[in-house]
Amino acid sequence: MLNLKNPEDRKKFYKSKEWYLAAEQVKREEPLCRMCLKEGKLEPTRHVDHIIALQIRPDLAFERTNLQGLCISHHAIKTNQESNGFGAKKRKTKIYKPKWNIDNLFQNVRDK
Ligand SMILES: [Zn+2]
Repeated sequence: MLNLKNPEDRKKFYKSKEWYLAAEQVKREEPLCRMCLKEGKLEPTRHVDHIIALQIRPDLAFERTNLQGLCISHHAIKTNQESNGFGAKKRKTKIYKPKWNIDNLFQNVRDK
């Protein structure tokens, strides 16, 4: 039994088959980053995020309503906020620059 308040056990959790399958399911259901959608952007989901962090509510580890699909940059931003909130060392957040967005895709069409 994993103690998800323990960082080592959280690492094991994220490597577990159960989590992998749950995360794959969320990615299928939410192929686009939820936060980007709110900002009117389209970015593919790369990470499945616990809306309420795992260390706070380990009981919600597999609760579907507590899971959301996020792109790399939104996941990094959220994880950084959470770890700062817990007094962890600040890590540099690499901002993931999207290679494309919907506006660029349609720019050519509009210009013609
Ligand atoms: Zn995003």
